[in-house]
Amino acid sequence: MLRSILVALMLFLCACSEPLEPAAPVVADNEQVQNRGAGKDNWWDSLPRPEWGAYQKIDQSEGWFEVYLVDDGIYAIYEPGQFEEVMSFLLVGEDFALMFDTGLGIGNIRRVVDQLTDLDVVVLNSHTHYDHIGGNYLFDTIYGTSLDYTKSRSMGSSPDAVAGFLQEGWVWKPLPDGFSPDQYRSHAFEIDKFIYEGDQIDIGGRVLEILFTPGHAPDSICLLDRENRLLLTGDTFYLAPLYTHIEGSSFEDYSRSAARLAGLAGEIDRALTSHNVPVVDSAYMTALGKAFADIESGAAGDVTISDGNREYQFDGFSVIVKD
Ligand SMILES: [Zn+2]
Repeated sequence: MLRSILVALMLFLCACSEPLEPAAPVVADNEQVQNRGAGKDNWWDSLPRPEWGAYQKIDQSEGWFEVYLVDDGIYAIYEPGQFEEVMSFLLVGEDFALMFDTGLGIGNIRRVVDQLTDLDVVVLNSHTHYDHIGGNYLFDTIYGTSLDYTKSRSMGSSPDAVAGFLQEGWVWKPLPDGFSPDQYRSHAFEIDKFIYEGDQIDIGGRVLEILFTPGHAPDSICLLDRENRLLLTGDTFYLAPLYTHIEGSSFEDYSRSAARLAGLAGEIDRALTSHNVPVVDSAYMTALGKAFADIESGAAGDVTISDGNREYQFDGFSVIVKD
């Protein structure tokens, strides 16, 4: 996958763009920067990813973030300076706005959102891994699942739990003014309202249906906008290695969720994903379901061992399974 991105990127750079220069070039530790393939020593060499060029970039004051309008009333708030390349989505309705995740908590995402909408903002997380809830504490209203996992994550973290996000080789952009790496941790937040499978959130002019899709994390959800044939996948799908092997993840649950998303492929046109690249074709949902089915049946052949785990390669993504 990475190789095809690199080839596309080289063509793109030759054609029309200047590469971003890392602020402090360092060589990443291969053991730490897991599974980025041949080019992972300097992962930022993949930036800017050409897919972002399709969307209007929005001016705002916070240099840690980049903001793009990826659909009518939907902003992707992207953090390309850190290895996760995580993105959060602001969906602006007629009545209120929904933030689907709040990023790493390194930059102040609230300051970005305040420049994009005057409406009240409700936060809902795709799941509560620390790279998706970092700015939750900056907002007044937070929806979440009633699961114990969500509750434990809402209590905040020690600095140790998130220090890895800042390790050498994981950040190339200058850290924001006022940010203190020593103080960095996940801040506690309170959930104001529980959400459940099948709930519909009407933000005014757009209705988002909640699908519980555990696997990547116990509390992973997707949002389905049936009218606009759009799915927000969180970390259940993106164009990079998919994790079934980390603490709290479950291959069996993930496989069921993948089959469920594959069943939706005919009802959507596009999916918005939470790392690297913002928009993918719905055909990937079919591919996701088939990938898990093939791993289970033994039909998925292209396996490498990656940092002690099995990594199954597919077109555009891979799946890492505990060995
Ligand atoms: Zn995650």
